[in-house]
Amino acid sequence: MTILTAREARTPEDLRHISAPMDIPDLTLGVYVHLPFCERVCPYCDFTVFAARPLDADLERRYVAGILAEMDQRHCDFGSRKLASLYLGGGTPSLFQPDSIAQIVTAAFATFAPQDAVEVTLEVNPSTVERERLPAFLAAGVNRFSVGVQSFDDRVLRKLGRAHRREECLATLHAARRAGCTNLSLDLIYGAPGQTLESFERDIEEALVFSPQHISAYSLSIEDKTPFAKAAARGQLALPHEEEVVTMMERLADRLAAAGLHAYELSNYAVPGAESVHNRRYWMRQPVLGLGVGAWSTEVVSVGAPYGARGANVTEVAVYFDRIATGRSAIEGALEVLRPATARGEAMFLALRTAEGLKAHAFAREFGAPPRAFFGPAIDACLAAGLLVESTDGNLVLSAKGRLLANSVFAQFVEDSSSEA
Ligand code: SF4
Repeated sequence: MTILTAREARTPEDLRHISAPMDIPDLTLGVYVHLPFCERVCPYCDFTVFAARPLDADLERRYVAGILAEMDQRHCDFGSRKLASLYLGGGTPSLFQPDSIAQIVTAAFATFAPQDAVEVTLEVNPSTVERERLPAFLAAGVNRFSVGVQSFDDRVLRKLGRAHRREECLATLHAARRAGCTNLSLDLIYGAPGQTLESFERDIEEALVFSPQHISAYSLSIEDKTPFAKAAARGQLALPHEEEVVTMMERLADRLAAAGLHAYELSNYAVPGAESVHNRRYWMRQPVLGLGVGAWSTEVVSVGAPYGARGANVTEVAVYFDRIATGRSAIEGALEVLRPATARGEAMFLALRTAEGLKAHAFAREFGAPPRAFFGPAIDACLAAGLLVESTDGNLVLSAKGRLLANSVFAQFVEDSSSEA
């Protein structure tokens, strides 16, 4: 099981864990736009991405036209919901021209009535060309940059197969601030090949120099069928020991807390008020419209699907173009209608990802009974192992130990979700 954020929730495996609760009156919408081209494909990446550098102008134009047509085709599925967040992820969205980004932002605001404040995030990779576009991206309506730094250590970046280097990270972050970005997030990775605790601690300090409002820090996971998985199978991928990775996670949380960034989710840290509006939607199981190849949507469906439904778009660009050009849905196959047990399991472990944890009262309101009615033995086992903390009113949060062993806690609830006929 991996992290559920806009950055990571792009594979069928991840998005199987997202559903939309129906009894909580959420009247907002998040839109995720997948822009799937990268300078090159990193050896650990299992997102829907294609190498394209430079990005061919005709391909870019056709892809943006496809996104706009798909938005137009699907907006009625989401009724009069107000736009709360727009997330332009990838891939490397900053490979797109600012004019293209402006077209998408403008169309989203014209199609969905915006809330008073809409978070508009653009993922940016550190590079010279993209750096020069940052002011124009802000002028296009973007108000949050998420910069894929990963590490400031050239040795680590090389081993990760990243196209950028430390100097480009520094220059891009300086450029983002100079351009007037006031909501800056950056991604760090830990547990990478060749990485040491000292190197990761330096990464944290370098990141803090830029006073980011938000940091996402992920432990490297080795995904099936990637070049890293094949290298690992051959015994040719030297990763830090598990204890060292755990220490990295602990140091990160301590240092960021001291710098005023609280861990509002297992892998996400923010100064108060700068938590990602879009990513929170995934943990809160709120509707997201996904546009573009490989994008997932959680649909708001009430007839015969009280817990909603979801589906993923086709993953080939040519097929996507064909579907859109002929007025057909880009969603591959039938929507998955959420079964109650699946929704209950997801409600449990997604809430447990967050610092607020699971609110027993809200769970009972949605599912008709408190968590213990469905998960009593699993909850007791986690409490006995010191992985969960339960309040007198039945609310649950991960303990410090549970945060380190979160996947084993979540597995308790995933298993339950697959048990219902
Ligand atoms: S830059 Fe990001 S999205 Fe692109 S290939 Fe590398 S990890 Fe994947």
